Order: sequence, then structure tokens, then C-alpha cells
Amino acid sequence: MRVNKDDVVLIRTGADRGERARVVAVDREKGTVVVEGVNVVHKHVRRSRRNPQGGRLTKEMPMAMGNVQVVCPSCSKPTRVGARFEENGAKFRVCKKCGAKISQISPARKK
Ligand SMILES: [Zn+2]
Repeated sequence: MRVNKDDVVLIRTGADRGERARVVAVDREKGTVVVEGVNVVHKHVRRSRRNPQGGRLTKEMPMAMGNVQVVCPSCSKPTRVGARFEENGAKFRVCKKCGAKISQISPARKK
């Protein structure tokens, strides 16, 4: 899976299934992503100096990368992501459905 920060993804599983939201963090070693407003847990906190009201804090928890699918910015369909080289050596992530470039992975060779 090639999910990057700031990609919009479709959630495939869990309580937030079907939602589209932005990726805020990627952990490639653990294979997890944190998605804005998805997989939120509520932590109940007592009153304290930092938190004089107490109450509930909400926090997005990491989820397995395999449970999200990148949404193509061009055709806005959930898609798999491929990689493509241009003739000048630049490498791009591309949508497998419409072929549009999603983002650049590496720059063109220098002449
Ligand atoms: Zn597309």
C-alpha cells in the first residue's frame, strides 16, 4: 500500500466504514495510519490543572493501512495506487483506475 500523509482515504472497516477523510500520519514500520476524525476514542479525564473542566478528550487512534483505500483526486474513486516512471526518470504515484498522477515520488534526473 502506498498511503501518504494528506491523502484522502476511504475507510473500509469498523465503525467509520464508508467515511472519507484525510490522513494525518503514517507509520510505515507498524503499517498504520491515523485518519482525521476516524477511529476516535474518548478518554475520560478528571479535573486537573491542565484540564480544569475534566471531561472527555477525543483522540484518533492508528488503524491498519489495509483498512483504508486511497481516493483518487482526479476521478474521486477509491483506488489502488501504482507507480510509474516518466522518460525523464521522475517517479509518480498513479491511480490504477484512471491513470492520473496522484503525487510525485522522486524527481527527474538531472541532465
Ligand atoms: Zn483516478
